[in-house]
Amino acid sequence: MSFDIAAYSKAFDKFIINMEKLHDMNDPGLIDAISELCSILHIGKISIMVYESVSMEQLDKGTEKIVFDLGEFDPEHCLRLRESIGNGNVVWYSFFQTIDSDDWTEDEKHRIVVFEKAFFSFNGRSRVMSMIDNLTYYDADIGIPNLHYFIKTADQLITSGQISDFGSCYFNLKRFSIINQHIGRQKATDVMKIFIKQLSDKLNEKEIVCRVSGDNFIALFEKEHVNIVNEHLGGIGITYDTDKNQRVFVSAYAGYYMIPDNCHSSDEIIDNLGIAINTARNVMKVNSIFFDEKLKDSRNEVKMIENEFIEAIEKDEFQVFYQPKVNLKNYTICGAEALCRWIRNGEIILPYRFIPALEQSKSICTLDFYVLERTCRDIRRWLDEGRPVVKVSVNLSRRHLGDMDLLEHIISSIDKYNVPHEYIEIELTETTTDVDFGDLKKIVVGLREAGISTAVDDFGIGYSSLNLIKELPWNVLKIDKIFLPDENDSNTQKYSMLKHIIALVQDIGLKCIVEGVETAEHVRLLKENNCFLAQGFYFDKPLPVSDFEKRLDELKTLL
Ligand code: C2E
Ligand code: MG
Ligand code: MG
Repeated sequence: MSFDIAAYSKAFDKFIINMEKLHDMNDPGLIDAISELCSILHIGKISIMVYESVSMEQLDKGTEKIVFDLGEFDPEHCLRLRESIGNGNVVWYSFFQTIDSDDWTEDEKHRIVVFEKAFFSFNGRSRVMSMIDNLTYYDADIGIPNLHYFIKTADQLITSGQISDFGSCYFNLKRFSIINQHIGRQKATDVMKIFIKQLSDKLNEKEIVCRVSGDNFIALFEKEHVNIVNEHLGGIGITYDTDKNQRVFVSAYAGYYMIPDNCHSSDEIIDNLGIAINTARNVMKVNSIFFDEKLKDSRNEVKMIENEFIEAIEKDEFQVFYQPKVNLKNYTICGAEALCRWIRNGEIILPYRFIPALEQSKSICTLDFYVLERTCRDIRRWLDEGRPVVKVSVNLSRRHLGDMDLLEHIISSIDKYNVPHEYIEIELTETTTDVDFGDLKKIVVGLREAGISTAVDDFGIGYSSLNLIKELPWNVLKIDKIFLPDENDSNTQKYSMLKHIIALVQDIGLKCIVEGVETAEHVRLLKENNCFLAQGFYFDKPLPVSDFEKRLDELKTLL
């Protein structure tokens, strides 16, 4: 069919006239302005790809905006045209042909080029720029600025010498994936938006709250407003269903950095905030921390531990200690937990000094498998020596959960020493993210199928809820020592919680053990509540292998 030049001219005029009326590229009138021309030129889709710079273009790291899409287009037939804008931005316009139409003729291709040029110039540089700003500096999902905007603003404040008036903060919403699971993604996103909007409303127009990714945010605020930010991040209740008056409590982990006047770059701010939030969340396990130079030293210590770790493993500097678990019906040992110790220059280093550092990288996984193998090697030897053997539990860090082959890896480590699976238990702490939850489920189910028992460690200090625990086939739940009263503790609430937790755990069919049992009174409380498994200093500290073997041998006399 020959090209209808009259219809084309009419459509082109309409396009020119209507484009003038548009505010920006998001204007709903845009489709109307271009659709006739697209139909005549057999265009099924137009997309615009914006790159911040030529190097981003080379890496193909850009942002795409679809301005026209019939839903049917031929990806094989596409005309791509490049425009560069003075400030280094590069824009690619891609025109896709409609399905089943004849290939574009040279004449039609030429008209598409003219269309593109007109489109580009009619948009006007400023409109393209504002679109680029929109694409580059805003998070479309929740409609607030993004990390690029934070960087741009911070760099401007540094250049204008005003940066030391500001404080900065990096925050991560707590348990947000659990909120996602409980109320659904759509409502959870609304909750997130409200939480951020309410924070922004408390600040002035010079101050910004930007989304980094997922549930991570970064903010700049005037120093005197730090308490406002801190208080908001401490938590607020947000109504997500007005009809049913349902609310959810949202709070955040935060790292703060009060910016000094010798700050030279936004990178420095982001790095220091990263150190602060990481220390808060992963090392100190507190809600928030203000950056200071000492944190940098602790970061260096983390690096030092990392560096020395490989050598320490090679030199066999890690040892496995065993802490007995005791049956309160007859006070015999009925199990043990393998706990590692770093023996460095004759000094025993406890896990709290190196585990958090190793958990920041995958080194913890190397250590955990080292401990698992050493434990299996010891059990094998005890079996071969004819000693009574008990089930030994080994801690696995949550860091393993992303490992696709974790299950096979655990089983092959145990089988390598030919240890019957019933002698091993794996302790894992509860997880808070839904991504982890899927991985965790795979492991717990897989271990059960392999006859290896699993325990939820440290119940009570994380975010574990019995509801989530019920979802997986755990064998044992270890109640943390925080539920045990101190000697001069008159807190009856703790006792009442302990009592109810024990009852609930047993009710859902799990074995229940309490750790951190230090006094005769603790033992009495457990027995009073029908919990007959205990681990703690009242009976034994974690013991070097030779001492633990003596405890095992005591069992012989009972046989
Ligand atoms: P956890 O798994 O909850 O281990 C129990 C901790 O409580 C041990 O500390 C143990 O010595 C301590 N404990 C036992 N009874 C009592 C008591 O009566 N009172 C008090 N105050 N504490 C008691 P430890 O050995 O210092 O280990 C601390 C944590 O380090 C462990 O907590 C575990 O999370 C981690 N950890 C230890 N070894 C490993 C390992 O091989 N791999 C991994 N991933 N983590 C490990
Ligand atoms: Mg443990
Ligand atoms: Mg524990």
